Amino acid sequence: MTSRLILNLSLLAILLTACSSSTSPSPTLDVSALSTQAFQTALASIQPTDTPAPTDTPIPEPTALRTPPALPVPFTTNRLNPLDAPHTYEEDACQYLYNKWNSNNAAPGTIVMVVMLHGIKQDAADVTANDITVEGFKQMMNDLHEQGFQAINAAQMADFVDHNAKIPQRSVLLIQDDRRTGQNFDEHFRPYYEQWGWTVVNAWISAEDGPRALALQDNVALEREGWVDHQSHGYVHNINMTDASTEEFIRTEFEKSIADLQTNFNKTPVAIIWPGGGFGVRPVQIAREYGYRLGFTINPRGPVMYNWIPLADQPDPARPVYQAEGYVNDPRMVIPRYWPYQVRSELDNVRNLGKEAAAYAEQNKATELEYYDILCAPTMGAIP
Ligand SMILES: [Zn+2]
Repeated sequence: MTSRLILNLSLLAILLTACSSSTSPSPTLDVSALSTQAFQTALASIQPTDTPAPTDTPIPEPTALRTPPALPVPFTTNRLNPLDAPHTYEEDACQYLYNKWNSNNAAPGTIVMVVMLHGIKQDAADVTANDITVEGFKQMMNDLHEQGFQAINAAQMADFVDHNAKIPQRSVLLIQDDRRTGQNFDEHFRPYYEQWGWTVVNAWISAEDGPRALALQDNVALEREGWVDHQSHGYVHNINMTDASTEEFIRTEFEKSIADLQTNFNKTPVAIIWPGGGFGVRPVQIAREYGYRLGFTINPRGPVMYNWIPLADQPDPARPVYQAEGYVNDPRMVIPRYWPYQVRSELDNVRNLGKEAAAYAEQNKATELEYYDILCAPTMGAIP
């Protein structure tokens, strides 16, 4: 034995004595009186190459003595508009790492494009700013499929953003806004359900006495078939929910929508597609009270990944229509959506963004797992 090791072992012996005299069986040592580094050196020098410590000596857990590494900053990219910044929402670092590296969950870089659809029009002359032609729609669907995207429904999206539940590495959430006829779904969406198993979310308006009330029975039948996923798009719909709305109005929009979806579609909605794209702090908080897990705006800011939602924190003079969402402080309730005409030109960007996120995660994997092992594993267990 070198004299250095003997010295270190003596130091360890002092520490162990100090520890065993303590009345509280704390899992972590109070080493404030002595240098942590010296103790770690002592511990490191007796294992594993030197003489093993006697088995009846209460050696403290080595993990309690390792210094956790600093966690890397969240993934950023120059593939978004400079005013649209990714926002995280999982505040518990251990939970985030557990969900991220759990081998049963979605792999890092898994990405979702959320697309909003309004009118799908045969005649280009009928196409307004919100619409797309039938030809353009077919092109968009084929482009998505060719680039390896697969459609998911609202419950899958909620489980993905909340827990990083497994979904296809490239996913698309298609949302058809407003009430539509059975014919609309049969003509435009059914072929993709039959060929590829693709589902579609319908942002369903509930009021039966408005101009948008139509085709309830057709939609009930489609929901029963299992591939048209009806979610909340308000009760009266034509008045936006904002922070200026009365409490009563906001509550009615949710309560009557939920009651309708439960009665007619036998489901409790998880998503609110904000009518007119309007939202606010109070509408979001009240939506959470009613159990909503997702909210969608009309703001096209980029794709979504686990714990990574691009939002704006300040108004953008170049895009005044798109209200900044950051101040709401609940990214999952103000998820951005693409207009259908943007999809084709964004596909490469989105695919590459997912690849870069995956590479960044891989680069940081060892550090994150070390952090987890030191600070999280003692309470949360190993990551499956
Ligand atoms: Zn609408």
